[in-house]
Amino acid sequence: MANNLAEKKKMSPLPAANASKARYKRVLLKLSGEALMGGREYGLDPETLTRVAEEIKSVTEMGVQVCAVIGGGNIFRGVSGAASGIDRATGDYMGMLATVINALAMQNALEKIGVQTRVLSAIPMSAVCEPYIRRRAMRHMEKGRVVLFAAGTGNPFFTTDSAAALRAAEMQCDALLKATKVDGVYSADPTKDKNATRFDKLTYLDVLSKDLQVMDTSAISLARQSKIPILVFSIHTHGGFAEVMQGKGKFTVIEG
Ligand code: UDP
Repeated sequence: MANNLAEKKKMSPLPAANASKARYKRVLLKLSGEALMGGREYGLDPETLTRVAEEIKSVTEMGVQVCAVIGGGNIFRGVSGAASGIDRATGDYMGMLATVINALAMQNALEKIGVQTRVLSAIPMSAVCEPYIRRRAMRHMEKGRVVLFAAGTGNPFFTTDSAAALRAAEMQCDALLKATKVDGVYSADPTKDKNATRFDKLTYLDVLSKDLQVMDTSAISLARQSKIPILVFSIHTHGGFAEVMQGKGKFTVIEG
C-alpha cells in the first residue's frame, strides 16, 4: 500500500492546480503526416516537429495522459502507390512503415524537450521500437510517458484515422483529438470554398450522412460505438491543444 502510494506520487508529473484545469484524463491525438511537413512538399520539417512536440508537452504538463497516432501521408500512401503500379497491399505496408518513420521523428522531438516517449508498433520491429501490447501501452501512460502508436492498425486497407479510433477505444481514452489545418469541421474545405460553414457541434451520424470529410467512415463508426467524442481543432493555433483540453479555444465536437 505504502509502495503504491509512493509510486502514484512519483507518477503524477504535474502540480494539482494545473491538473484540475483539464477536462480529460487520457486522450489520443491524431496527427496526419502532412501536419509535420510545415511548408515542405514532402517529408518532415524539424521546426514543425518541435512545435507540435511543445504542444504535446504542454498538455502532459496539465496531468493529461497523452497517446498519439501519426499518419504517413507526408511520405507514402498506399493509394498513390497503387496508382503508380505497386499493388495495394504492398503500398499500404509501405505507408505503415512511413508512419514508423514519423513516430520515431516525433519521439526524438519530444525527448529533446524532456518528454519521455515510447513508440509501439503494430508491426513488430524489435530493433527499432516496442511491439504494440495494449496493457504495456496503458502502463506507459500511467507512468506519464507519451505513447506513439506506429504502423497504423498493422493491416492494409485501413487508414491511420481508423487506427486512431481503434487505439482510443482500446486505451479507454476520454476523447480523440483530430488535429487539422483548420479550426473545426466545415461543410466544405474552407481553404477552397469561401461559402463553407463551420460547425460547433455535430453528431457522428451528421458526419456520416452529410459525408463531411473529417475522418474516414470506419473511424467515425468506431468512435460512435465506443462513445468517444472527437474534438477537431487546428494544430496551427499556438497553444491550441492545451486550450481544447480545457474546453477553450475553437474546435468542433462530434458526439451523441
Ligand atoms: N495504412 C494501412 N493500414 C493502417 C494505417 C495506414 O495500410 O492501419 C497505410 C495506408 O496506405 C495509408 C498510409 O499507411 O495511406 C499512411 O496513412 P494515412 O494515409 O492514414 O496517413 P495520413 O493521411 O494521416 O498522413
